[in-house]
Amino acid sequence: MTFFMDELEHKYEVDIKTTEAKQKLPQNIKDELKASGMMDDKGKLKLKGVSPKMLKRMKQELVDCPVFKEDIQFIQCFVCPNFQSRVTGKVLCKGDSL
Ligand code: SF4
Repeated sequence: MTFFMDELEHKYEVDIKTTEAKQKLPQNIKDELKASGMMDDKGKLKLKGVSPKMLKRMKQELVDCPVFKEDIQFIQCFVCPNFQSRVTGKVLCKGDSL
């Protein structure tokens, strides 16, 4: 564990995996994203500070979520209340039960 990681309060360091398969966000997540202005009516994601190139990459990423105990798309993880930050290849997760 690096010094930087120690500074943030988090319970899990979750590895980010890449998949080639096209992924679909669950409808409830889409609704949440729309409600918070992070997705437009056409289903296009609008995340602040995230470039289209980065977004494309994020869409192909998954995390093996320790809370939901299943693979979760990175986009869904990114907007999860437990999400703290992303450091090289890992998500720092608060790990609260949701
Ligand atoms: S931030 Fe949320 S989705 Fe991501 S690993 Fe933690 S609990 Fe799972």
